[in-house]
Amino acid sequence: MRAFKIPSSIVPSTTCSSSTLRKRTSIIHHVRQEVSGGREAADTQQQHEVSQSASITGILGPQPLHIPSRDIMELKSFFSLSWRKLRRLKSWLKERRISTGNEREVRRLQDDVVKNNITGELLPLQQGSSETGMEIKETPVVTVSSLSALVKDLLEEYDRGKTMKVFAFGDYEYLTRMYGLTGPNGRHCCLYCEMTKKEMADPPMAVPRQRSLQTLKESLNHFKTCGIPKESNNVIRSPFFDIPINRVCPPGLHISLGVFLKHFNSLCQACHTLDLEIGQSLAKSPTDQLEAKEAFKQQLKKLSLQSRLKLAEEELHDLMDQHMMVGLLYPEAEPPTLILEMAEEKKREKVTLEKEIGKIPEMTVHSGPTNVGLEEALQQLRVSRQAYHGRSFVGNHVHKCLQPENTDLITAAISKKVQSLCPNDRDLIQKAEDIASKYNTLLKLFGACHRGINTGTFLDDSVIDKLDKDIKEYMLFYRQNFPTESVTPKQHLLQYHVIPWFRDWRASLGMMGEQGGESVHCQLNNISRDLRGYNDDLKLNIQCVKNQWILSSPSNYNKFS
Ligand SMILES: [Zn+2]
Repeated sequence: MRAFKIPSSIVPSTTCSSSTLRKRTSIIHHVRQEVSGGREAADTQQQHEVSQSASITGILGPQPLHIPSRDIMELKSFFSLSWRKLRRLKSWLKERRISTGNEREVRRLQDDVVKNNITGELLPLQQGSSETGMEIKETPVVTVSSLSALVKDLLEEYDRGKTMKVFAFGDYEYLTRMYGLTGPNGRHCCLYCEMTKKEMADPPMAVPRQRSLQTLKESLNHFKTCGIPKESNNVIRSPFFDIPINRVCPPGLHISLGVFLKHFNSLCQACHTLDLEIGQSLAKSPTDQLEAKEAFKQQLKKLSLQSRLKLAEEELHDLMDQHMMVGLLYPEAEPPTLILEMAEEKKREKVTLEKEIGKIPEMTVHSGPTNVGLEEALQQLRVSRQAYHGRSFVGNHVHKCLQPENTDLITAAISKKVQSLCPNDRDLIQKAEDIASKYNTLLKLFGACHRGINTGTFLDDSVIDKLDKDIKEYMLFYRQNFPTESVTPKQHLLQYHVIPWFRDWRASLGMMGEQGGESVHCQLNNISRDLRGYNDDLKLNIQCVKNQWILSSPSNYNKFS
């Protein structure tokens, strides 16, 4: 038993000074230690006091233990939680004394964001591709009921007295159609100027007339009187949007995908020619250690049959010549039947050889050894071509292949293959090295343009100047070294319209172009993966779009990232 002196309080703790509060706390600590028996025991004692306090939320206030409805809505949309999962999470939190905004309130907040602007229905739509076959299938289609209401809402939310400029983006085909052109392949297929496709390959000295909303209108009027698209700069309709053409962002991603695919296919074709020559070189000096694919072996067999056929034809020709000469020289005598018999024999051999050759198909572009070498290099880089999309590449893979060290790896595969197969054919090795070096330079020059246009930043003048130089250098090299190849509309966009865009807006095509739009596909896919458990396709799609909408609404986004 011990006695303590406890001072009586004149001023209550609610109004006393902080130094008095400190003094009182120290007295209570001291008493607690004495009562509970030591410092460590005092901590346990204090924990018990706090947990037993009936008015703990009253003492600490409600904030730390309550998650309000708005935060729950953000949580739900960011982690793509279904309502069922959210309920489980809420009860889990509740067990840990954390209360959360109620579901009805969260639903109401969501409705405030979406404003009943989403509808969904099942429509019979054509699906599939020319490779897999087409079919009509009931397809869930989710639409925004009023796009203008959505845009106005967003503008309201963003508007803090700033000037608004609206820009357009999309893939090239979409853009041309939205602005009333016949499509991406007409005679005047450029959205930004009136240059013809023929002039793209062989540009005139004069700068082509730039398109504007005004010129589109004039061209459309002309179309209405003449009725011939190519006579009216391929304008056949009014534009869907009033957005000026210099605010349409050139489609940087599609420029990169399209131009890279073009160059890579051209490389495969060059390698195919090389592969045929390797075949001829090997046919001259047969070798056992040939590690070529079956198709290539077949091709070798075909080449050897072809040379036997040529020989047989020559011999047949000679025999017939001889027979004729003999007949001329000795008109009174019967020409020896032996020659005719031999000729008949050769004829039969010729027919057999022709039949056999006919059975072996022409080697396809991707089966020869250097093409296989290219494929192996791609595999080493973990790059794959898309089977059903014209063997195209996805964005990340294009980016990877255009890294200088990877471009080196790809082109080095060509001469390596030729050296291992025909080590003694100096001419052929030289040829392979020439091809490798030409495409290496081409891909590196294009790679610099690709990186320059697709950064995620604003560019300053010096960077734009450098990009301008890179594009000029690339196009010059291309025109000089590939004179028989076409200049595609995408190359034309790169050459003529990318730099003016940067001079006007400085924003990279990666920021303002179609990549943002493409990434919405990816977001929706992620959301739908997380939202498993819907048996109903339509409901799932509506829920996905709703979640994406809430996730990207200005009040919500970037909260978690
Ligand atoms: Zn143009």
